[in-house]
Amino acid sequence: MINMGFFINGKELMGENSSKVFNPADGSVVGTVALGDERIVDEAVGAAKNAFECWWSFSAAKRGDILYSCANAVKSNVDELSQLLTSEQGKPIKEAKMEVFRFTHTLEHYAGMAKSLRGGSVPNLDHNPARMGLILKRPLGVCGAITPWNFPLSLAGNKLGPGLIAGNTFVLKPASTTPLTVLRVASIMFEAGLPAGVLNIVCGPGGTVGDRLATHPDIAKIGFTGSTPVGKGVMSKAASTVKRVTLELGGSDPFIVMSDANIDKAVSACSVGRFFNCGQACLAVKRVFVDEPVYEEFKEKIVEKVKKITVGSGFDTSNRMGPLHTEGQRAEVEDQFSDAVNKGAKILIGGKRPSGDSYDKGNYLMPTVLEDCSFDSKMNTEEVFGPALPLWKVSGMDEAISKANDSPFGLGSSVWTKDVNSAMKAAEKIESGYTWINSISKIYDELPFGGMKESGLGAEHGYEALEHYMATKSVVMGTE
Ligand code: NAP
Repeated sequence: MINMGFFINGKELMGENSSKVFNPADGSVVGTVALGDERIVDEAVGAAKNAFECWWSFSAAKRGDILYSCANAVKSNVDELSQLLTSEQGKPIKEAKMEVFRFTHTLEHYAGMAKSLRGGSVPNLDHNPARMGLILKRPLGVCGAITPWNFPLSLAGNKLGPGLIAGNTFVLKPASTTPLTVLRVASIMFEAGLPAGVLNIVCGPGGTVGDRLATHPDIAKIGFTGSTPVGKGVMSKAASTVKRVTLELGGSDPFIVMSDANIDKAVSACSVGRFFNCGQACLAVKRVFVDEPVYEEFKEKIVEKVKKITVGSGFDTSNRMGPLHTEGQRAEVEDQFSDAVNKGAKILIGGKRPSGDSYDKGNYLMPTVLEDCSFDSKMNTEEVFGPALPLWKVSGMDEAISKANDSPFGLGSSVWTKDVNSAMKAAEKIESGYTWINSISKIYDELPFGGMKESGLGAEHGYEALEHYMATKSVVMGTE
């Protein structure tokens, strides 16, 4: 069993209270973690504040070199880290390894941008050659990061990569059910050369630790990833000190298939897009709209595909899908099934728990495909954060776009058609931060990502994420 404390100022500190971390595959205790409170947050913020001047005084290139060393050190511990991640989160070990590499890719991506960070200048202000304007880019100071349990490491990387390169220091609060891997990563990064106090981790309840981060007067910005209701609360609390916020929130991504699409490829992308991480991804495919002429073909093929998804412990490499993360998460998805069925939906495959001894203690649910879900059922009106794929029949792209936009969410979207004009029209009209055209729904560090409507504010990834971790300042210089 692993017992971990807080990570503050380069040291692990044990707390007075701790909580257990459970394995979603069998309910066993993976370890314990120290429980923080307001006082511990204040201590961590103090450490981050003390470390800020020194970290900012390094050249961006030096910060980049340090992040490269951190990424290498994390990569060389990939086996240990992916096992820890599977134990506390439940995902298959192959997906856990992918997540560790995604985290290091993000650090490397921003480390590579370090040498091109610069401001700007404007000559001849007031038509006066002796008056020049300078545009400075500077870090914000101490940033707070609050992350969820579905991708505990890669979502931390989305904040640390741009934020650290820009010269900020951090206090990070992981989800209470997945604190261990990120704590271990913090100590690996420290051993690899990240100075003490630059990255501090405090675990504990969102309502206490997260709340203190959102209201703390010495925190300049909160990078939050999580559900829309909690994100709204963080935003309103951050207003008390006019903090900047980046919010990456919930989604209900539409997946549109037109009759001229490559159906086999669309089916494959739809299956991965929905069932990866047991359906617990913000950018998962959550609502499928299929053009009438190919509806039956798509339906038959997706059901055949889903039949082949093997469910079980993430440590067995033959399994494609692990358990849901918590009992509560499974209960929420089961309630969404019942609501759909009560309103007339048909379950085409799945819709129940797998049976057998090896499943009894875990939070398992079979991958599920439904049709005829009413539009006022939770399958359409709520974010479905689990392995459930509802199909709807539509007549043409216009109806598909209108149904896609009939949602408070606007995170990602997919369009499958060979008609370039129709695809581009959909990309322009669909209210979402990402549109994949004839492509698997995958995130790239090179491209900015941020939701529209109630799916978020600001951006992660791309150069745009760096802008969210820097202040822009003007200076007027007289040179007479
Ligand atoms: P959540 O309940 O909103 O929790 C997210 C984080 O916020 C956790 O660390 C949580 O701490 C903390 N928190 C809870 N209450 C808080 C409060 N009052 N003040 C400050 N922080 C608080 O979300 P989740 O269930 O962990 O994650 C799933 C959600 O995240 C889904 O809606 C998913 O779509 C979204 N998500 C979005 C993206 C994106 O990029 N758009 C990516 C991944 C996930 P505790 O664990 O201690 O409660």
